[in-house]
This record gives sequence, C-alpha cells and structure tokens, in this order.
Amino acid sequence: MELSSKHYDSFSLYTIDAGRFKLDGGAMFGVVPKTLWSKQIPADDKNRIFMALRCLLIQSHATGRNYLIDTGIGNKFDEKMSRIYGVDTSEYDLDDSLAYHGFSRDDITDIIFTHLHFDHCGGTTDWQGEESVICFPNADLWVTKTHWETATKPNAREKASFLKENIEPLANSDKLRLIDEGHEFEPGLTHRIVNGHTLGQQLPYLTIGNTHLMFSGDLFPTFAHIPVPWVMGYDMRPIYTLEEKAQILPECESTPIHLFMEHDAQQEVITVRKEGKNFTMDKGLTLKDLP
Ligand SMILES: [Zn+2]
Repeated sequence: MELSSKHYDSFSLYTIDAGRFKLDGGAMFGVVPKTLWSKQIPADDKNRIFMALRCLLIQSHATGRNYLIDTGIGNKFDEKMSRIYGVDTSEYDLDDSLAYHGFSRDDITDIIFTHLHFDHCGGTTDWQGEESVICFPNADLWVTKTHWETATKPNAREKASFLKENIEPLANSDKLRLIDEGHEFEPGLTHRIVNGHTLGQQLPYLTIGNTHLMFSGDLFPTFAHIPVPWVMGYDMRPIYTLEEKAQILPECESTPIHLFMEHDAQQEVITVRKEGKNFTMDKGLTLKDLP
C-alpha cells in the first residue's frame, strides 16, 4: 500500500483510501451510451465499473484539528451486499490508511460529510451487537442542513441510498453539526454546495496560498465525468448537475482548481482543460504533485 501526503506550513494533507467497490456502469453514466463510456472505464462481466473510496484527511497546523472528509462504505454490509457492491478492503482500508500516516480514529476531530449516501458515510459507524454505533469518539459531524433534511425525509428513489444504520446514529449524536451554505470551517477551509446529485452536497474547498483543492465528491465521481453532459443516472436533479458543472469547470481551468477524486479508481488528483467546446481531464496527479 502506498498513499500520498503533502505538507504545507498551514495544513498537511493525507490520502485515506477506504477500499474499492463496484457500481453499475449504466447507472454511473446515465444517458451516455456504453460504447462511449466503456472506452473510458471498462466494465466487468456484470457491467459494473471499479470505483475507489478515497477520503481526504486535512490536518490544520493553526488549530490542531484533523478533518476527515467522508468515511467510505464501511464494514457493516453482510456477505450478500458486499458481493453486490464488490466491496474490497484487501488492499486499502480506512483504519489501515489512517495508521499508515500515523493516525487513528481517536485523532479525528471533525468529519465533513459531502453527503450521506452509504458509500460516503458507512465507515463512520460499526455494529456493536445489533446496534450501529459511531466509532469516531472525538469527531464533530458536519452535514449541511438541506442535505440532512433530504437524508431524513428521502423520496422513494433516493431512499435506498440512505441506510438506517448510517443515519440513525448521527441523528442520535450530540456531535451532529448542521450547517448552512458558506460555512467556513477555519480560514482556508470552506465548501461549495451543489444540489444536482442530491440536495445540499458539500464539496470541501481548500485554499493554501495560490493552491486550490476541491474535494469533488459525486459532482465529478471519475475523470470520465468531467464533460458537462456526462452525468450520472443516479443524480436526483441532472439539470442542476449540468448547470453546476458548466459553472465550475471554467473556474477549475482558469484558477486552476485541483480536483481530489473520491471515486476514480486510477486518478487521485486531476486538473481540467477546455478542448473544443467541452472540458476534459488535463493532468493526472497525486497530492504530492500539488503546487
Ligand atoms: Zn458516491
């Protein structure tokens, strides 16, 4: 296992890889024909594509806080669910990745959830007998108000993504922190809010001097989702996703904003460039390569 890190005076950044899983390629690419998407990311014999569960640990040297962004899919699935989603923690696992960089769950002071679909928050909790309990004893748990609203009163289509064993422990925790758009976790660490994939998805945004890094969550799940019309079938409001991508991509190119890729099995950090009318991945990098 090899994981990258990057150290600045203000912050240190660590890749926390929580494993691999698989999702249906058709659902991942919506209306894009398989003949096109499978050239970018090949499908397995069950039409699934290989996905990462890559989290990011941001250590602040100013405040001493350790922010973990998302926690992966976790270990609570039974054998059947693990098989359906091809969950594989043999090479990468949340605890091993934390330990690799010299951290444990106890060191995490804050978990910033992009959103609460099971592949983003499952690792926060584990079974203690019949009960699902939070296993980050010292962490404040940050979710946007609008997302919490939708996660606790989901529509029929999104319901399957919000698992009771993931949501209930948060609801019962006195560490749940519900925030509005524009929240500043501390100077240099804010977020962007997007609503296409799910309402109130927050994408943590780090500014260190001239370096800009955005955790791209499920706005750009893989490098192949950079072009504006390549939108997931999973998105609740695909029209919003189109608008959000069209708005942010020119900024990603000009600033430039480096994108930290949560689900891309190959790419950890990418930059984008315009090619003709559309946008595409420019460079495939790691945290180490950040300016
Ligand atoms: Zn996801």
